[in-house]
Amino acid sequence: MSDSDRRLIATALYAGLRKGELFGLRKRDVDIERRLLMVRRSYDRESTKGARDEAVPIATALVPYLQEALEAAPGALLFPRPDGEIRTEDDKLGKCLRSALNRAGIVDGYLHLCRRCKRKGTPHEEKHTDCQRRWCPKCGMLLWAKALPRRFRLHDTRHTTATLLLAAGVDRYAVARILRHSDPKITFLLGETLGEPEGRPTHTSFPATCTRKSIGSA
Ligand SMILES: [Zn+2]
Repeated sequence: MSDSDRRLIATALYAGLRKGELFGLRKRDVDIERRLLMVRRSYDRESTKGARDEAVPIATALVPYLQEALEAAPGALLFPRPDGEIRTEDDKLGKCLRSALNRAGIVDGYLHLCRRCKRKGTPHEEKHTDCQRRWCPKCGMLLWAKALPRRFRLHDTRHTTATLLLAAGVDRYAVARILRHSDPKITFLLGETLGEPEGRPTHTSFPATCTRKSIGSA
């Protein structure tokens, strides 16, 4: 992953921006001192829900990424393509994001499989949300746990943002404000659907491990 993609993905995760909002960010939309990101335009107006200009709080962890982006980008745009133009829908960011999240331990679950039974041509596998030790019910051998990377599109980072903030104890009204859902109930539902850290240890561990280093270890 390139440095610019890394900054872009960190911004997607920490600020919960939609893809078009992210690509349309200009340097003057970033107010590091007041810790605010002004979200006001998009490369594709039709896909932008809500037409108002809004100020999105900048999380402390996001500050260094934004500072780097401000220094690195040559023109007015914060996250331009290498040629300086605005990014488009074809940007291959989904794949980068998947591998970044995988490295950060964000997985859908684990496939536990018996390698002995597989060799014998009678495969046994079971899916679990954790990677605890389990044994093959057929032959008793220790099962091999394989991480199942989460399927991610850039849009899904908004759900991840909600989960991270809720897991970090940020109150739901603040989360709703960050994600700019018109109705906080939507965010509540999102939190109830995704924000159960007990069954998903990978979610709770993410804020601590999502350092510049872990995102960058491509
Ligand atoms: Zn077996």
